[in-house]
Amino acid sequence: MNKHLLQKVLLPTSTAGSLPKPSWLAQPETLWSPWKLQGEELADGKQDALRLSLQQQQLAGIDIVSDGEQTRQHFVTTFIEHLSGVDFNQRKTVRIRNRYDASVPTVVGPVSRPKPVFVEDAKFLRAQTSQPIKWALPGPMTMIDTLYDDHYKSREQLAWEFAKILNQEAKDLEAAGVDIIQFDEPAFNVFFDEVNEWGIKCLERAIEGLKCETAVHICYGYGIKANTDWKKTLGSEWRQYEAVFPKLQQSNIDIISLECHNSRVPLELLELIRGKKVMVGAIDVATDTIETAEQVAATLRKALQYVDADKLYPCTNCGMAPLSRDVATGKLNALAAGAEIVRNELLAR
Ligand SMILES: [Zn+2]
Repeated sequence: MNKHLLQKVLLPTSTAGSLPKPSWLAQPETLWSPWKLQGEELADGKQDALRLSLQQQQLAGIDIVSDGEQTRQHFVTTFIEHLSGVDFNQRKTVRIRNRYDASVPTVVGPVSRPKPVFVEDAKFLRAQTSQPIKWALPGPMTMIDTLYDDHYKSREQLAWEFAKILNQEAKDLEAAGVDIIQFDEPAFNVFFDEVNEWGIKCLERAIEGLKCETAVHICYGYGIKANTDWKKTLGSEWRQYEAVFPKLQQSNIDIISLECHNSRVPLELLELIRGKKVMVGAIDVATDTIETAEQVAATLRKALQYVDADKLYPCTNCGMAPLSRDVATGKLNALAAGAEIVRNELLAR
């Protein structure tokens, strides 16, 4: 039913993923903050936070809702923690997306998923709402970039193994009633040759056989210093998308989620993925300044030159976990209001 529902709403709004966590669950305005609760209390706390996050989206009028990633500490490692073959006690320092050093776990043997990771959380979200729901998973290439591999010793092979595991999880999420499964692949913005050689192939392996909608989110990251410093090195025009769009356009993925507002991405690059549905980032997550509805509308109107109206999904540039609750709420409201302006313009034509 939700697939029909999605098709009936023009310019359905959603977020790229994360929203702020309540202060009793994790330290606010802090990325990847540790949990403040444990055991049973943590399990209950995550569910309560999910309810609040859902309500925050609903009150703002967001059409495609998510768990706001209240069940995850980190968008990649929380998933990997549930897999076997990865030792979190053996840590090595590696460079993440050529940008910053991080201490990461080691792949010590064949990777597998002993049991579903987010499926119970997704069922819980499904039970709270009849709106279309989106669930985010890390993409295979971004997963391998967050690990030290002492077993496969091949980025491509490890990514392929993760793609098979992600496909198992995705199929379970689909069965739990998830309407859109999104793979977060910021690594697609960095390793262009690998993306074209095997990254997109791995992504297609991860979505193999799915009947629900599938999305890939490719952004310039949270507004953390390592990312804003990196952005300063990218020059006046960010043409990273140009390297991967042609092959993505040919791929089986349904939706491409992109950073557009306040970024230096030339929007005409969207022409390269004409025919795909596009989640257009119309909210900047790297600033506390709340966009006006008119600013959101302006970004959407620009995108409409390259994206057909029935394929445009207004969205945020990336997750909003590091923002304050008030700022995030203001931005959600602006997103919904900006989409409403453009929706009315389209309907009046
Ligand atoms: Zn992002």
